[in-house]
Amino acid sequence: MKGIGWNVGSNSTLKFWSDNWVKDKSVRELIQGPICQAVQEITIEEMRQGGEWHWNAISFYLPPCIKGRIIATPIQIYGEKGDSMSWKASKDGEFTVASAYTLARPEEEHGDGFKGSWIWKIDSLPRICNFLWLCHHNSVPVMEVIVARGIDCEAVCPLCNSDAETIIHMLRDCPFAVAFWRKIGVPSDLKSTFSLDILKWLETNCVCNSLIKVKGCPWKTVFTFAVWSLWKHRNRVVFENTTLNPKLHDSCLKQAIEYVYCVGKSFRTIQVRYSNVKWNRPMGGWCKLNSDGASLGNPGRAGGGGLIRDHRGAWVRGYTRNIGFTTSVIAEFWALRDGLQLAL
Ligand SMILES: [Zn+2]
Repeated sequence: MKGIGWNVGSNSTLKFWSDNWVKDKSVRELIQGPICQAVQEITIEEMRQGGEWHWNAISFYLPPCIKGRIIATPIQIYGEKGDSMSWKASKDGEFTVASAYTLARPEEEHGDGFKGSWIWKIDSLPRICNFLWLCHHNSVPVMEVIVARGIDCEAVCPLCNSDAETIIHMLRDCPFAVAFWRKIGVPSDLKSTFSLDILKWLETNCVCNSLIKVKGCPWKTVFTFAVWSLWKHRNRVVFENTTLNPKLHDSCLKQAIEYVYCVGKSFRTIQVRYSNVKWNRPMGGWCKLNSDGASLGNPGRAGGGGLIRDHRGAWVRGYTRNIGFTTSVIAEFWALRDGLQLAL
């Protein structure tokens, strides 16, 4: 069944080829071509003898990359335990509806079909991020959007009374907005973005290099406060009958600068604490195991090793080995397990 994987127990009854026990796949999915009838039903138990993989039990040669994945898959060695089921679509093996939904979607819908996820990574106020989200979905209630929803009114811009009020008109192309942007001082590197379509315009300005600044403040943050200020100002004009504010850019800049210095991510200090790290001897009569595992790529070819020292720091035992093909975390666990086995 899709999404179901197996953790191999010490009393395994799983089929070597057809059950999903190597990462999220069956060994059969990893290889191409036919398998002869005689080996199709072979179990993991039959493939392992004395804790070692018995490759001669199958009639053909498995490529080293697949052998690497197989030998890196942990198999329980102690206790009487059968195989246990796990949910392979999540990192911790626990079932979640979200991971099942992702798994159930057709292949072509996977990947980055939606292009607006940058909105939730920008450094600005949450309510401004929500506003940008609405812009991205063409859901800001400007006149044209209201008309498109079937409400009987004129789509004309209430600020300039000439063009239709679309979101891009309200934020950028209305004469009031044009003057606003000129006064706030769009950095020369980004002036050309002011002819892009709305989605590209918003994204390019909101995720631009933080070294691009205006009045010492990152432009990408100023920009988010600017679009928000234009929207709030427009609403004041429409609903509170205030006059157009030619100094809007000033208050917008002040808000952006206050945000950057008080809340923004770029000014948060990272606390670095230094401490000496050294190997400490265990108590008298005890030994200490130190282990480490790593992979070349993640996943990639992995190895691990370690050593055991006594309470004087003298060498007792050491080990190192090829783990196969797996992730760095699994390699760490293999190295620890090898060390614990050696210590027994
Ligand atoms: Zn206008």
